[in-house]
Amino acid sequence: MNTRRSGSAVDVVVLGSGLAGSILAAILARHGHSVAMVERGRHPRMAIGESLVPASAMLFWMLGQKHDLPEVRTLAHLDSVSRNIAPSSGVKRGFGFAYHRDGQRSLHPAESSLFIGPKQPIFRESQIFRQDIDHYLVKAAQRHGVHYRDTTAVTGVDIDRRRVLLALDDGSSLTARLVFDATGRNSVLAEAFGLPEEPCRLRHHSRTIFSHFTGVRPLEELEPGAEGAKVSASWSKGTLHHVFDGG
Ligand SMILES: Cc1cc2nc3c(=O)[nH]c(=O)nc-3n(C[C@H](O)[C@H](O)[C@H](O)COP(=O)(O)OP(=O)(O)OC[C@H]3O[C@@H](n4cnc5c(N)ncnc54)[C@H](O)[C@@H]3O)c2cc1C
Repeated sequence: MNTRRSGSAVDVVVLGSGLAGSILAAILARHGHSVAMVERGRHPRMAIGESLVPASAMLFWMLGQKHDLPEVRTLAHLDSVSRNIAPSSGVKRGFGFAYHRDGQRSLHPAESSLFIGPKQPIFRESQIFRQDIDHYLVKAAQRHGVHYRDTTAVTGVDIDRRRVLLALDDGSSLTARLVFDATGRNSVLAEAFGLPEEPCRLRHHSRTIFSHFTGVRPLEELEPGAEGAKVSASWSKGTLHHVFDGG
C-alpha cells in the first residue's frame, strides 16, 4: 500500500502502536480486515507501565488463543517472553513500601510493608520491559498484514456516517470505515472532539519522573532492618516504593 502523499483507503485505522494498538491491529488483520496503524514516534521507544498482574497475563493468553496469535500468547509467561522476545523482563515477587527518614539507615517495620502474593499456579506476576515488548508486537502486527507507518502524526480528523478521513502530517490522507484511538493519555480523538475538560477539575501538583537505571544495588544490600535484622531479598525482586516526607 502506498500511503505517501496520496489518499489511501483501508477498512480500519488504528492510531498509536503501544500494547493496545498493536494487539488490536493484529487481531483485526488476522480476521481479514485491511488495517493501517499510525504511530507518531518510532520503536523501540521508552514506555511506562511495566508491572504485569496475573489477570493481564491471562488476558494475553486468551486473546492469543482466541485469535490464533502466538505472539500475544507469548506475553502470558515470563519464560516464553525471555525465550521469544528478550531476557530483559523479570520476575515480580512482591509489592513493597519502604519509608525512609532523614539520617536513619534502617527500615522500621511499623513504617514499611512488603506484600508477597500467593504463588499463582499458572499466570504469575512479572515486570515486562515495554520497550522490547511493544517493539515485538509492532513487528508481529506487520507480519499479520498490518500496514504500519511510524513518525507520522494525525493533523486532522473528519468523521461522518460512512467513513473516517484522517489528514497526516506528510500531506497524505487515510480513509477508513472505522478508526480506533489507542494513542493513550493524549488521545487524538478526544482532542479532535474537544473532550478533555479545560480547566481540568482533577488537576493536582504531583509530578512523575521516570527512567530506567542499571547498576542499582538492591535495598537489602544497603539497608539493615530494625535492630540490624536482615532485610528480605524479596524487597528488590518486586515493585518497591521508596517513600519519604513529601514524596
Ligand atoms: C506512571 C505510570 C505507571 C504505570 N504503571 C503501570 C503498571 O505498572 N502496570 C500496568 O499495567 N499499567 C501501568 N500504567 C498504565 C500503562 O502505562 C498504560 O495503561 C498502557 O501503557 C497503555 O497502553 P496503550 O497501548 O493504550 O498506550 P501507550 O503505551 O501509551 O501507547 C500509545 C502510543 O500512541 C502513540 N501516540 C501518541 N499520540 C499519538 C498521535 N497523536 N498520533 C499517533 N500516535 C500517537 C505513542 O507514541 C505510543 O506509542 C502506568 C501508567 C503510568 C502513567
